[in-house]
Amino acid sequence: EVEIPKAPPAVNLDEVYGQDGRVDRKANATFVVLCRNSDLSGTLRSVREMEDRFNRYHQYPYVFLNEEEFTEEFKERISVLTSAKTEFGVIPHDHWYQPDSIDEDKAKANRDQLVKDKVIYGGSVSYRNMCRFNSGFFFRHPLMLKYRWYWRIEPDVHFHCNINHDPFLYMQENNKSYAFTITMYEYRRTIPTLWDHVKDFVQLHPEHIAKDNALGFMSPNGVDYNLCHFWSNFEIADMEFWRGPAYTDFFNYLDEKGGFYYERWGDAPVHSIAAALFLNKNQIHFFDEIGYEHSPYTHCPKLGNNYKDGKCSCDPKKSFDYDGYSCMSKWDEFMGLPDH
Ligand code: GDP
Ligand code: MN
Repeated sequence: EVEIPKAPPAVNLDEVYGQDGRVDRKANATFVVLCRNSDLSGTLRSVREMEDRFNRYHQYPYVFLNEEEFTEEFKERISVLTSAKTEFGVIPHDHWYQPDSIDEDKAKANRDQLVKDKVIYGGSVSYRNMCRFNSGFFFRHPLMLKYRWYWRIEPDVHFHCNINHDPFLYMQENNKSYAFTITMYEYRRTIPTLWDHVKDFVQLHPEHIAKDNALGFMSPNGVDYNLCHFWSNFEIADMEFWRGPAYTDFFNYLDEKGGFYYERWGDAPVHSIAAALFLNKNQIHFFDEIGYEHSPYTHCPKLGNNYKDGKCSCDPKKSFDYDGYSCMSKWDEFMGLPDH
């Protein structure tokens, strides 16, 4: 008879660090993950990395959202990855599906044209539902209302470095409202009329425009949009900003124009333009130390000792920051950072 070797006793990190994590000062914050049941394996990978690189010491909760019920398998397999609270919510019908006020013939004609023009997701209605939901609704979901701060995660993203501090507390203590790791150009073809609507909105609502805003980053001449935006698959932000009067008026105005369906407006340019208009530029933060990958792009830390201190696994030479398609150098220049 073969003797099965006994595994060494398991180390329970909760016992090592205490049930509430090593760090007990906590912001009123959550992770939020929008995904489908079919995204289970990618979602597991993203959560696993987040736990390894940050959250096993913090135990921030997770909210998973979906327009359908999550399966029992999905909920169980996610829940075993973390000792933090995990909640799984269904999105209210009207927060997701194309509203009846949209002229479907007109929307269809645009989708067909974008397919012909080979615009990514050009023919997809569900992608448009997703963009509208992320623009105007995720922060109003009943499971999200108890939180102020969120960190958006997607399936199949990577966190390449240890995060040796609490980004939520950093935001809170330094009066930041919106944070990004990657900034790039949007496809003009997806937002042909968005900027004109933005300009009309600014005329209608000058009271919402921040005095020291970041508009100069996106519109150096004050007239045209240079298409720079923050890539919203990563976001750490204050939901009080999205829930407040300026963004509420802005989203309702844009939603009424129908461009989420008549064009293919992304939540990234909508969030980014709002942050640039309604926040002071110092309330927008770039997290260099958070190594982050969403295919096909990676931000790898570059400043000071961030790469070494984070024990990063990304290749700093391949950081998207130096890519011609990145808006990072424009941001540094706008913010008056060195090297420009
Ligand atoms: P991309 O990053 O622009 O290529 O778009 P993704 O396909 O990654 O979608 C963005 C986010 O929305 C991801 O977190 C997806 O899991 C999620 N998502 C996209 N479409 C749907 C959908 O139809 N239903 C649900 N529940 N989530 C979706
Ligand atoms: Mn994605």
